[in-house]
Amino acid sequence: MVETGQPRERIQQAVTEQAQARLRELFGKMPHEIPLILFTRPGKNEAYSEAARQVIRAIREMAPKVSLREFDLGHDLAQTNGVTQAPTLLFDPGRFKIRWLGAPLGEEGQTFVEALFMMGYGLSGLSEQSLKILEKLDSPREIKLFVSPTCPYCPHQAVNALKAAVERPDLISLEIIDIQANPELTERYAAHGVPMAYANDQLIAQGAQPEELFISSLEKLEQQSVFIPDNDAEEVETDLVIVGGGPAGLTAGIYAVRSGLKAVIVERDALGGQVATTPVVENYPGLTQVGGKALVDIMVNHALQYANIFPGEEVVDIQPGEPIVVTTTRRRFKTKVVLLATGATYRHLEAPGEARLAGAGVSYCATCDGPLFVGKKVIIVGGGDSAATEALHLHHLGAKVTLVHRRDKLRAQARLAQSLAEAKIPVFFNSRVVEIKGSDRVTGVTLFNSRTKETMDLPAEGVFIAIGYQPAVDLARKIGVELTPDGYIKRDDRHRTNVPGIYSAGDVEGGYKQIVTAAGQGSEAALAIFEGLVNPYWKGRESPA
Ligand SMILES: Cc1cc2nc3c(=O)[nH]c(=O)nc-3n(C[C@H](O)[C@H](O)[C@H](O)COP(=O)(O)OP(=O)(O)OC[C@H]3O[C@@H](n4cnc5c(N)ncnc54)[C@H](O)[C@@H]3O)c2cc1C
Repeated sequence: MVETGQPRERIQQAVTEQAQARLRELFGKMPHEIPLILFTRPGKNEAYSEAARQVIRAIREMAPKVSLREFDLGHDLAQTNGVTQAPTLLFDPGRFKIRWLGAPLGEEGQTFVEALFMMGYGLSGLSEQSLKILEKLDSPREIKLFVSPTCPYCPHQAVNALKAAVERPDLISLEIIDIQANPELTERYAAHGVPMAYANDQLIAQGAQPEELFISSLEKLEQQSVFIPDNDAEEVETDLVIVGGGPAGLTAGIYAVRSGLKAVIVERDALGGQVATTPVVENYPGLTQVGGKALVDIMVNHALQYANIFPGEEVVDIQPGEPIVVTTTRRRFKTKVVLLATGATYRHLEAPGEARLAGAGVSYCATCDGPLFVGKKVIIVGGGDSAATEALHLHHLGAKVTLVHRRDKLRAQARLAQSLAEAKIPVFFNSRVVEIKGSDRVTGVTLFNSRTKETMDLPAEGVFIAIGYQPAVDLARKIGVELTPDGYIKRDDRHRTNVPGIYSAGDVEGGYKQIVTAAGQGSEAALAIFEGLVNPYWKGRESPA
């Protein structure tokens, strides 16, 4: 039976004494002095000012190198240091640009002690990856971090920010702002959920982040949700190089490594490929509605658990052979197999209004965006198979469809042309869209008739551009990969091209261009590559048994 609290109290006291002795020892060994300057004002946040004094007094009993001077907010020093709020605590202003607006109370006590250790020892404790990012920083960052004494997540983010400010005092300044002591600032920055971090007045993080994510958000001045470690290696040996970090490439990476291969994914641009530019995806199984960027983050984080990703570098050359040598803008890879998952882009009309209204009525994918136009007037631009198919798809969904084609007859197959006629879909022949109109959303188009030389306005809420795709086949062409008459990569049923060791997957192969189909092809290709590598016939053109 536990006695009346006595033993527990004794244990607690012993633990406190031990912790204090340890803190005293660590504070005692600090090589640097830490002069603190506290600015206060009678009648303004007095409870916070008194709390700040008490916390600092308690610390100073253990830390002889910590000193405190206090001034009124009206003192010259406040003006020279740009201090306008009381209480404000400056940490060693000769060395750092770090200040605390409020008092380090509650959960924030821990942050305060960590701050003193970092400054006292002159060590930020940042990871190697974070240091690499900060080394490259070449312009100032002014961090405002909103915290509250009752927020258990705040110290983590505050320590991230402190580490950055201690590491690069030449460029990084930090204000830790207690939301309760600073309601006006909190209102101005709408910091109603803490921790919330701004840098140069841009919101860079909501909630606590892993250190590297915070540092890369700080560097990029926008919230990052994926961190990919930098890799300095000039040459990397691997089993598989996947060119392209869209759905096909990312899925192939997951499948390849799960099969036991070493795989890398190289992406020249934004990870996620076309999905990164898609506002909303509504046809990815399991996710009723998801932002394109959010879906990319999910896929990239998943792929990162398996494959190494090399973002921001372009594959510029592939030399087939054993090994295949892949040259990027940053390094060389020696590999057994290459998977080309380079994707395709929709052809654009290049008409005024098209780029501005993309995602606001201008679309390139009826399968993706069609359901948004049920019962609405839409225009399909194009005269080939895909324009006819998209027109029929939208018609069946219940949109009021008109087709606009620049020639005098359709290029689509006769059967599709007949279906258009049966569906009574009007076609404007010899007509070019010369402008897409609307301020926030599409309201119509202006057509130019090349026969009559007349222009006319046609009202519409949606414009679907179906004038073809541009597959990314430059690399494939360069190494002699055979293409289809439409310009896509020609491959066999195991995603092998005519060049040994070179496979393909996704939109670059033509066919249906959807996220699920690209992901499906990526998985098929990775499994075929694995089978090909363990099968003695893989170098030849025969299908494995
Ligand atoms: C606006 C828009 C909306 C869409 N909406 C939907 C939708 O709602 N639902 C749906 O299912 N599909 C949608 N799609 C189609 C879907 O995004 C594509 O089918 C899919 O992304 C194809 O995947 P992929 O991996 O084959 O190619 P991509 O996504 O095109 O990725 C290929 C990647 O390869 C990279 N690359 C190319 N060459 C190199 C090189 N030399 N070195 C390094 N990297 C290289 C590119 O930068 C690119 O990131 C949409 C497409 C667009 C443009």
